[in-house]
Order: sequence, then C-alpha cells, then structure tokens
Amino acid sequence: MGLGLVPPVLPMICFVGYSFFMQTLFTPAQLADPDIAESNRILRSCVHCGMCTATCPTFLLRGDELDSPRGRIYLIKDMLESGRPASELEVRHVDRCLSCLSCMTTCPSGVHYMHLVDHARAYIEKTYQRPAAERFLRRLLSAVLPYPGRFRLALIGASLARPFARLMPGQSVMAARLRAMLSLAPAHVPSPSAIERRGVFPAQGERRGRVGLLTGCAQQVLAPSINEATIRLLTRMGIEVVLTKGQGCCGALDHHMGHHDPAMRLARANIAAWSAEIEGEGLDAIVVNASGCGTTLKDYGFMFREEAAPWREKAEKVAGLASDISEVLTRFGYAPSRPAPGLTVAYHAACSLQHGQKITAEPKALLARAGFQVKEPAEGHICCGSAGTYNLMQPEIAGQLKERKLGNLARTGAAVIAAGNIGCLTQLGDGAMPAIHTVELLDWMAGGPEPEGIAKARELA
Ligand code: SF4
Ligand code: SF4
Repeated sequence: MGLGLVPPVLPMICFVGYSFFMQTLFTPAQLADPDIAESNRILRSCVHCGMCTATCPTFLLRGDELDSPRGRIYLIKDMLESGRPASELEVRHVDRCLSCLSCMTTCPSGVHYMHLVDHARAYIEKTYQRPAAERFLRRLLSAVLPYPGRFRLALIGASLARPFARLMPGQSVMAARLRAMLSLAPAHVPSPSAIERRGVFPAQGERRGRVGLLTGCAQQVLAPSINEATIRLLTRMGIEVVLTKGQGCCGALDHHMGHHDPAMRLARANIAAWSAEIEGEGLDAIVVNASGCGTTLKDYGFMFREEAAPWREKAEKVAGLASDISEVLTRFGYAPSRPAPGLTVAYHAACSLQHGQKITAEPKALLARAGFQVKEPAEGHICCGSAGTYNLMQPEIAGQLKERKLGNLARTGAAVIAAGNIGCLTQLGDGAMPAIHTVELLDWMAGGPEPEGIAKARELA
C-alpha cells in the first residue's frame, strides 16, 4: 500500500473500529435541552480525523486549525459544554465560517456540521455582546434584506453612492464592510417585475403538474429576470405555477446570523402559505431557484422538530416538497427548441447546491442538453466567498475567495459563467465574464428571450 492511501483510509478504519468518537461532558440537565442534545449527538459522531480541513476554504487561506471545521467543532464543544457566554475567540472563528458545508461533503463520519454551527450561531447571539456598530449593522441587514420593498429602497441609495465606495476613508473592519456593501450594489436597480404579482400562471397545453414557486426576497429585487425565466420555462412545459400569497423570505439570512426568532417567524409564514395550497388544490413541488434558500427550505422539518402539531408535520411536508429548479426540470423532461448557441459555459456549483443539497449532476446535464459546452473550473468544491451576508461581514476573506474563483473560472476558457444561486451571481458577476442564472440560459434555449450578458459572452467566445 502506498503511503498516499494512509490519511484517508486510516482514520476511517481505526477511529471507527476502536471508538475514537469524540467524548463529550454534558450534564443530564444540559442534555434535557433538545438543542444541546442534538449538538451532543453531532459532536460524538466526529472522529477527529481532520479530513475536512483539506476542503475548508478558510483553512486553505489562513492555515489556522481554529479556522478549520475540526478546530471550530472543538471550540463549539467547549463553549456549549461550559455553558458560559461565548468568548471573543469562539465568535471570531465561528464568524469566519462561510457555512459552505464543504466539510460535510468530505467528512467520512457523517458529522452534521450545518446543524452544529447553526446552534453555535444562535448560542453566540444569545450570550455574546458584540460591539455596538456591529450589532447595528447586523440588525440593519436583518431588517432590510428579507423585505423586497425595503431592500429595493436601500439598493437605490447604495447604487447612487457606489461610485464613491473606493473613496470611503478608514482601515477599520466596519469601513471595509461599508465599502463592500456599496461595491456589491448594482449600478442600476431593475424595476419590479409584473410577473411577480401573486397568483396562478396556467400551464400551456395539457397540465402535467402544479408547483409553488418561492419568489424569494433579495433575488426578486436584484434579478427579477430569474423568476420570469422560471415561470416561462415551467408553464411552457405544461406545469402550472402558483405564487402563493403570504410567502416571503425563507429565513436563511436571519438563520445564518443566529437570529433564531425572526428566522422562525419568516419560515412559519411560508409554511402557513404553502400548507393552504397543499391542502387545497395540491402541489407537486415547491420550486426554488436560489439554492441558498433551497437548503433552508429543505431543513424546515428539522427547524420545526420541537414545535407542537400541526407545525412540525406541516414543516416536514413543505420541506419534502421543496425542490431545486434543476430537479424539477429533470423530472418533467426539459427539452430545448432552439439550435445550439455555440457557447461554452463554465458551471459554478453553488455550495448550497453541491454541498447543502448534494445536487451536482442535474444542472450540468441540463445545460449540456440545452446545447452548451459545459466546463468545470478547478477547485469547484471551494466557495466563491458570497455565502449569504458573508461577503458583507467578512469582506477580506470573501474578496480572496472571489479572486481565486474568478481565476479558476477564467482558466476554463468559457465565455459565460452559469450558476444557480443569486449570491454567487452577484459575487462573480462584475468580473470579465458575464454570470447568468442556469435557468435563464435554459429558458433562452427553450424559446425565451436572450439573457442580458450574452452579447458580452459572444464577444469573449
Ligand atoms: S462550512 Fe465551510 S468554512 Fe465552515 S468549517 Fe465547513 S468547510 Fe470550513
Ligand atoms: S468533522 Fe468529520 S472529517 Fe472533520 S474531523 Fe470530524 S470526523 Fe473528521
């Protein structure tokens, strides 16, 4: 056996066989708390092998064990076991985690890092007093981003101030965050889309299915063309699309900032809205075209596991129906109607899609079916640095990951980037290559309008 085989194989055989699982020291009183009991179960499944460090973006950049999944797991274990308020050390390293979940794909022991870090973030928000400016910023993001009307107003203001972002003085983290916010604002804010009125979009021809569509929050403001393309594509395929009244942000933005109550409130509104539809005419799926939201929707069953009936059951039902648009298009048989465009696409796999939902083959197969040449960049498993509000809160690491990703995408020689998540499209869209949602490319090839950015892609081709 070559020595190269030792690191991956040894931990799996030895650690599992000889019970090298992590020991924890929670008291029976602590374990009576269902969140602690769940984290205890997760912690005890870790065999300390460190394989996850190899694919962790923050460890790759910083080389610090405390910025690796294993290091964070130890910090979280110590913080939760002690029952004391979170310390600055724990907050710093947990805040630097992208929640990209690359570690979950790599882990041979099935450690559910996502649920552990979600619990840690909520614990930190409960027990740690952040500096006043940071508290204000986090509250502002929570009060603006999930609400399309407020977000649109904020974006209009930010787009006016955008040209002055580089002139903004100061070396502090807060100044860097404000510069990041302004530079991420689009130069032009699209008008609200007429297609996003609540209602039913009937199937063309014989009805083959009926789905709900999560219209989202930030995405519908930044790029309404994504929902328009989704509705056109689905209705053309004979699928009725319902935009249910009462739905809104999935809660992911608050959830990942540790804001448990607002996240649950937003999730509950969605569950109520879709349950009414499920119990009425019925739904074959709840379609999500922003994969960050899809990962959260699919986790509603877990988020509501301690809730009384009927919420737990309703949440499970909604989570069970939640499907990425690429899953639904594959299931109903997407077919193009235009000749191949002669364009090469670099497919950027959003972390929430490849690690969070384990959807890897479908988007590439659909793009190839549509007639695109599909290339994959090196280090496809590494995050682009977007990660919800991460590029606003951790602009330095996010910027390094963005440059690394853009370099890898450019080296494919493709003319356009395709991705299934608005966060990634915003993060990568201001580079030399246009970044377009997969669904807009598929809709174009099935008879829809040419997406913005294709003219630039043709110049690059
Ligand atoms: S979620 Fe991503 S950044 Fe966080 S520990 Fe895992 S691999 Fe590292
Ligand atoms: S999380 Fe998984 S890969 Fe990382 S140290 Fe624990 S068992 Fe190993």
